[in-house]
Amino acid sequence: MIPGDSFGDFMLAIRTNGQKWYFVACMTVVSVAVSWAVTGLTAPEGLSRAALVPSTLAPLLIAPVASYWAACRLLEIHVLNEKLMNLAAHDQMTSLYSRDHFFRLIAGLGGNFKGSFLLADIDRFKSINDTHGHQAGDEVIRFVAGVLKAGVQPGGIAARFGGEEFVAWMPDVSLQAAMHKAEEIRQAVGAHALSVGAESLLCSVSIGLGYHDGSRTVEAVLREADEALYAAKNSGRNQVKSTGRM
Ligand code: GH3
Ligand code: MG
Ligand code: MG
Repeated sequence: MIPGDSFGDFMLAIRTNGQKWYFVACMTVVSVAVSWAVTGLTAPEGLSRAALVPSTLAPLLIAPVASYWAACRLLEIHVLNEKLMNLAAHDQMTSLYSRDHFFRLIAGLGGNFKGSFLLADIDRFKSINDTHGHQAGDEVIRFVAGVLKAGVQPGGIAARFGGEEFVAWMPDVSLQAAMHKAEEIRQAVGAHALSVGAESLLCSVSIGLGYHDGSRTVEAVLREADEALYAAKNSGRNQVKSTGRM
């Protein structure tokens, strides 16, 4: 659908079975009215008693069938559209938001909002892949995603930034409170041994934080969170850092 295309909006407004039947009823009434108008304007005797029956029956027989068929197709398009939007909004491996959708949601907040951004990166992930295999690596990514998603509640949102990296937004959470939440996430990741075949596997994450108070761009705050993450990696990994700007 073309954005702002009101005809497209109208057609895709068929989103439920109720709307489908409403559409069928409307199209049938409109068809009968148009048929009467055309008959009245074009027939020699106008809309006479004799012309009334065929000019009512013809649209009454055709319009419901045709509009029902069209409404079913439009409903199908709507359902597929929803599925497609859902696919685009989520990372398929983790079910977290996709990076693009995350930034769309953040952009939708406007500029003047407060809260903390979190960047997380699984430590020495390449060696997990190398030692336990790619599938075990995928399990670890899913596990960390689940911990992160739960850890930024209530009200927070998390996304897969790419590979073994994640980003999260915690609205109205101060940097101090975000440090606390991030520390809980870090500990929860490190505390759980994942079963991979006969082996069990421990992993850890490094986390960087940045605080958005509306005075800087989201990009600037994320750059700061990335610097903090880099500092966490450089100081031995498995830790939470912030650059301290409240
Ligand atoms: P560091 O502690 O510095 O973050 O080291 P690291 O090994 O975690 O980081 P590095 O960037 O060297 O390696 C990341 C690896 O993640 C490389 C890439 O093959 C792997 N990777 C990226 N996406 C996926 C994925 O979807 N599944 C799996 N299993 N591995 C992935
Ligand atoms: Mg990385
Ligand atoms: Mg890593």
